[in-house]
Amino acid sequence: MSLTASEVLLQELGVTDPEEIDAEAVAWHVGITVKYRSLDGCEARILGYGNKAVVTVHSDRPEPRQRFSLAHELGHWHHHRGRAFICRSEEIGGQGVKRPEVEKVADAYAANLLMPWYLFSPQALAIKRPTFGEIRNLASIFKTSFTATAIRYVESNASPVMIVCHGRNGRKWFKRSRDIPERWFPRDDLDADSYAFDVLFGDRGEHAPALIDASAWFNRHEADRYEVREQTISIGSGEILTLLHISDEEMLAEISNQKGW
Ligand SMILES: [Zn+2]
Repeated sequence: MSLTASEVLLQELGVTDPEEIDAEAVAWHVGITVKYRSLDGCEARILGYGNKAVVTVHSDRPEPRQRFSLAHELGHWHHHRGRAFICRSEEIGGQGVKRPEVEKVADAYAANLLMPWYLFSPQALAIKRPTFGEIRNLASIFKTSFTATAIRYVESNASPVMIVCHGRNGRKWFKRSRDIPERWFPRDDLDADSYAFDVLFGDRGEHAPALIDASAWFNRHEADRYEVREQTISIGSGEILTLLHISDEEMLAEISNQKGW
């Protein structure tokens, strides 16, 4: 995998450990002054003039969110220099398909800066059995939010997993690792047999990892033959996140046989 722009920058700064990833130092390196203020109606903004810019980050947020917002604005500086941005909460780290392309590009830069592959992949590959506990551990190593870290873990393709976010009105978004073919598409609505259903509509905040028939999650007729490992947690605002780990060897064999279709 070739290095991304933010990885090149981190390597210029000699970063060899997740602890050394300092978004403020990166900002200084590229001529940006960072301010923290209580902002009304947005998470962060950037105003540039010539080779300098000022980024203001909403101070009334958890630290991982502030770091991601700063890194997102650095992404705007790298990709969209000369333009001012006022970024609202749903534009930074959101998963909505309707988000403008410039916001997705800035998010990708932020993820590459805070969780660069050359440091993230070895940690992801060291995980033997993926769970949200392991993802929480990665989030604390990289000082990133739980959801952003979970997405990054899936993108790392370290193991065959999918994360699915549901609200009370159905599925909101999902991500699957590259090794899971596109035809394995999660059902639109939660199956009442899934553990996720209990978390979304019951009063438990999470359900520990447990095997479940794959047909609870996938409409394909072959799904009857397999089990997947499901773990679900509530992430607030009436939303839940489910981690599906394909641990069934026969299912993995079927998936890998038909890869490249
Ligand atoms: Zn933005």
